[in-house]
Amino acid sequence: MATNTCSSCAFFEDHMANTGETKKDAGLCRFNPPISQPEADARGLWPIVQINDWCGHFEKEDA
Ligand code: SF4
Repeated sequence: MATNTCSSCAFFEDHMANTGETKKDAGLCRFNPPISQPEADARGLWPIVQINDWCGHFEKEDA
């Protein structure tokens, strides 16, 4: 199992979703700005990632 997963990434905000609801196995990726803002008065959404997801932008927490 990979160790450089979202749950240990500096850009992962754990236990939160776009609704402010707590999530056990997922969180928000804060690497990029919010996405998908279809209307001017709609808010953008942060990508939701699972704790075992990963990507090439991984940065270790407390680095
Ligand atoms: S998607 Fe990439 S940048 Fe975002 S939390 Fe996961 S590893 Fe970090």
